[in-house]
Amino acid sequence: MKKPVLLLLLCLTLLFFHHPGRAWGFFGHRLLNRLAVYTLPPGMFGFYKSNIDYLTVNATRPDSRRTLVPGEAPKHFLDVDRYGDSAEYKLPRKYADAVARYGEDSLLRHGIVPWNVVTMKNQLTAAFQAKDTDRILRLSADMGHYIADACVPLHTTKNYNGQLTGQRGIHGLWESRLPELLSSDYDLFSGKAQYLPNATDAIWAAVIRSHAAVDSVLLFEKQLTAQFAEDQKFGYEQRGSQTVRAYSRDFSKAYHAKLNGQVERQMRYAAGLIGNFWFTCWVDGGSPDLRQIQRIPSETEQQRLDREAKETAVAPVVAVPGHDE
Ligand SMILES: [Zn+2]
Repeated sequence: MKKPVLLLLLCLTLLFFHHPGRAWGFFGHRLLNRLAVYTLPPGMFGFYKSNIDYLTVNATRPDSRRTLVPGEAPKHFLDVDRYGDSAEYKLPRKYADAVARYGEDSLLRHGIVPWNVVTMKNQLTAAFQAKDTDRILRLSADMGHYIADACVPLHTTKNYNGQLTGQRGIHGLWESRLPELLSSDYDLFSGKAQYLPNATDAIWAAVIRSHAAVDSVLLFEKQLTAQFAEDQKFGYEQRGSQTVRAYSRDFSKAYHAKLNGQVERQMRYAAGLIGNFWFTCWVDGGSPDLRQIQRIPSETEQQRLDREAKETAVAPVVAVPGHDE
């Protein structure tokens, strides 16, 4: 199938699942886990492809857990600028060293995304070693989410929603509104998954790259806001039965143009990086023959997911520390 056709099909499938949300948005997270499957080598592809719906739907589960599970929220971000100049190059790469230097409370307040991805990398490697299908799927879906979060510039700054600079809402503009409006025109194919000789360096490189983009993400929105009247910047749209206020199409498109494809580049990079991590865990876990193991989530896993979904649905929304707007 031709790439644009395939991407269009992917997008249509995801729109079918669409649901407003946070972080890359439900749309973005689901698309990224889905795209990552297509980077995998033949030894992995069959297994991941036959579970692509699981990996798609569960790409957003970590966000659903944020207000439910203590300790979940910090796994989605790292406020690099809480630690002074060029902290992204200087922060300890080992979590234990970071705890020793800053204390765990402070680390959790400012986010732990790269350390968490490394922990999960080790867990997924162990799941491959044990050929534990449920764990492989669950960890792959979750890890894809956190890696994708690390690729969002606003997940690396304390000004994560522009709330410190009068730009409240920019978080959703960058990572939900633009991809939802424009990603069917994006080229998101990132090639074949590559082995990561140093997974720690790889996820920190993602944080460094994201953080380097923070200035332009904020600046360009500010410049455009000066050129758009309030009623041109925002409009009203029908979402299901609701009318919601949203950044207008014109403003979103102008922002996309000014960012010169940045969201598209970050999405492509994120999908590739997720594939690289899954592939690296599989290799480090002894490259088990995935054709020999059960191909679908077990009944126990399905029951666990149903239970979790029910709990999420009835749980009161509680304030969680960090990136909670
Ligand atoms: Zn997230």
